[in-house]
Amino acid sequence: MHKNTNKSLDEYIVNDHDANHYLYECAIVAFILLIAYGLSVAELIPNWIVFIIISVTLPRWVINVHELLHIKSSKEMNEIIRCLAISPIPLSLFTLSYQQNHEIHLAHHRHSATESDPDAYHIRGNLFLVILNSFITPEQSFIRWVKINGISFQLGIDLLIKLLIFIILAFLGGQRFLWFWLFLRIVYGLGDIVFFRLVHHQKGEYGTFAMKIPNIIETWGGIIFGSTVIQATIHHDVHHKHPRIAAHNLAEARPYVINCPSN
Ligand SMILES: [Zn+2]
Ligand SMILES: [Zn+2]
Repeated sequence: MHKNTNKSLDEYIVNDHDANHYLYECAIVAFILLIAYGLSVAELIPNWIVFIIISVTLPRWVINVHELLHIKSSKEMNEIIRCLAISPIPLSLFTLSYQQNHEIHLAHHRHSATESDPDAYHIRGNLFLVILNSFITPEQSFIRWVKINGISFQLGIDLLIKLLIFIILAFLGGQRFLWFWLFLRIVYGLGDIVFFRLVHHQKGEYGTFAMKIPNIIETWGGIIFGSTVIQATIHHDVHHKHPRIAAHNLAEARPYVINCPSN
C-alpha cells in the first residue's frame, strides 16, 4: 500500500485543462503540417525536412487524439477533429471518423490484445504480417468497421470532406503531395507498430506492458516527440489499468495503479 504519500489517485485524473491542452496541441500540429506542405509545394524546403517535420508533429496529433478519446465523446469533440480523427491530413480515401475510432478504442481497452480486440490484427500473430497491417491500419479499420456497421450518413459526409481535402492538396502539390502523403503514412505506420504491437506483445506473451527504455532516450524522446507521446507509450500498462489518468501523470501514478491493484 502507498502509505508514504498523501496524494490520492483522483489527483492524477485527466481534467479540462489537460483536454484543452490536447486540443491546442492538435491545432498547432495541423497548422505546422499545412505550413510545411505549403513550403514544400513552393519548393522552399527539401523533402527530408518535410519528413522530419512530419516525424515530430504527426505522433503528437495521434497521441493527443488518443488522450481525447478517453475524455470526450464524438458529440463533445470539435468538428475538425471529429471529422479528421487520426490525422489532420487525410491518410487515405477510406478512414473512419472520431466516433468510430472512439468505439474501436474503447473495445481495444475492454479486450486488450485478445482475439476479441478489434486491434488484434495489428497486435497478434506473425510479426511480418503485423508490421504490414500496421501500415494499412487506416484502411483495415475502415473496412472492418463498415463490414459490421455499414456507412452512416455522417461517416459518408466526413469521407466526402476528406476526399475534397485530398483532391485540393494533391492538385496544389502534384508530386510533392505524393511524397508528403508517403511520409505521413510511414510515420503513422511506425507509430502504430510501437503503440500496438510493442506495448501489447512482449517476450512471446500478449498483454499490456510497460516499455522500459533508458532515461536518456526517455528525455530525448520527450523533447523530440513530446512528453505525452513518450509517457502514454512507455506507461501503456498504467494507461490500460486506469485510462482516465492524464498521460503526464502516468509515471507518478504507477505505484498506485500497478502495485496497488485494490485501487
Ligand atoms: Zn493499448
Ligand atoms: Zn487508450
